[in-house]
Amino acid sequence: MIRYLKSRELFAGIDRMPALGTPVSARTFEVTSPSTGELLAELPDMGVEETRAAIDKAHCAQPGWAALTARERSDILWRWHQLIVDHADDLAAILTAEMGKPLAEAKSEVTHAAAYLQWYAEEANRIYGETISAPSTDRRMLVIKQPIGVVGTITPWNFPASMVARKISPALAAGCTIVLKPAEQTPLVAGAMFALAQLAGFPEGVVNLIYASEGDAIGRELCSNAKVRKISFTGSTEVGRLLMRQCSDQIKKVSLELGGNAPFIVFDDADIDAAVDGAIQAKFRNAGQTCVSANRLYVQSGVHDEFVEKLAEKVCQLSVGDGFDPGVSIGPLIDKRALAKIESHIADAVAKGGIVRCGGDRVGMEGTLFQPTVLTEVSRAMTVAQEETFGPLAPIIRFQDADQVVREANDTIYGLAAYFYASNLKRVWRVAEALEYGMVGINTGRMSSEAAPFGGMKQSGIGREGSRHGLEDYLEMKYLCMGGI
Ligand code: NAD
Repeated sequence: MIRYLKSRELFAGIDRMPALGTPVSARTFEVTSPSTGELLAELPDMGVEETRAAIDKAHCAQPGWAALTARERSDILWRWHQLIVDHADDLAAILTAEMGKPLAEAKSEVTHAAAYLQWYAEEANRIYGETISAPSTDRRMLVIKQPIGVVGTITPWNFPASMVARKISPALAAGCTIVLKPAEQTPLVAGAMFALAQLAGFPEGVVNLIYASEGDAIGRELCSNAKVRKISFTGSTEVGRLLMRQCSDQIKKVSLELGGNAPFIVFDDADIDAAVDGAIQAKFRNAGQTCVSANRLYVQSGVHDEFVEKLAEKVCQLSVGDGFDPGVSIGPLIDKRALAKIESHIADAVAKGGIVRCGGDRVGMEGTLFQPTVLTEVSRAMTVAQEETFGPLAPIIRFQDADQVVREANDTIYGLAAYFYASNLKRVWRVAEALEYGMVGINTGRMSSEAAPFGGMKQSGIGREGSRHGLEDYLEMKYLCMGGI
């Protein structure tokens, strides 16, 4: 990885920067490339003791951070934003090395991460309260907003830079301090971002990083330590549920961004070429390893064959390989478990009548590359229609009835993202309103933005990230009532 970096000295020290505190154990863990298996780094494997020390530091630093003016906090966030922009090429290279996604996608993720910092550097200056018309003349009533306090954050491997920025920039803008544990597969880009945070000038203890080879012990400490006032987690629904249970003793606030099972519906009146392009974006970005990935593609009978033909033709042309190779659009899956999952979903579908229209196989036997795959004649009885595959597999379900398809699309425990393509205005409104999802893409396959609220309904989570709503999640509301006036 080092060979790709311009600022080698800066990032060579990410295993011992101040935001890490002092590791008490001599244990280490390895970070390896999913493309080549190359050893990228050996990091301190931190545990409960280091987490407790980081929480103590964050707790000490929080009143001072909150006491700065909004403008002063904003200025430091701006500096961090600028450093990330200045080092975007290096951050992208680190991201590609540890996670595998193509370099161009990694660069776009880093740009997206920087956009969150920019947004919340601005938003830090826009924390407003309210005055309320009092029911009696001798009283004044108002609402002020204050930072929640110390926030414990845990992030996943699939967007290791933007998830860090999306969580901690609103927290810092609000006046909270943070302890972050990145995913064990992809801690390096988080480390590099924290190294830049040191240069940006955050006061000691405001941002704290825990490197660890697993999440269980750290998660338990963050949830049970009373100095942590909120947990913000992105990852699987299973772990989100566990963290919520662990937070229940202290009625600790939680924000959860969890799994999805996104429907992608193409109606008869859709622009088919646009729908094909949208499906490729929504399905194959990040090799299908996104929580908002189109997981079930419903296509109406009248346009089914044309859509399948055009989609299969384009999907076959997507090139699979090492994320550093130019022209590659599908990188490796994160690990062998992910590879086994996609293979089992395809095998189950084929056994029940599914047809592989393109792809369907590994690329080479060594790594975790998998061909982008289009599967047709899919039915609801197949696992692929019920579970998040988290890989480059587009299962297509043919449908007739427009009302029925919305009912089917909603028939899942998840409610994160949905997409549909249609042109009839009445249909567009009705379907948009009827879909039980936190985010709906209409005639587009991509909708994430720092300016918009990202998050889900049902078991896809609690809370929103991005936009002004994302800031509210890190603020407490306090009602003040002044009498005797
Ligand atoms: P995961 O839940 O296994 O891991 C996510 C993080 O949780 C990692 O940092 C991991 O170390 C930590 N963790 C694991 N077990 C833990 C425990 N017992 N206590 C505390 N922390 C623990 O998820 P994953 O497989 O790495 O990520 C993929 C999942 O994340 C998918 O389901 C995807 O849909 C979801 N996701 C959701 C969003 C969103 O915004 N809704 C975004 C990205 C990913």
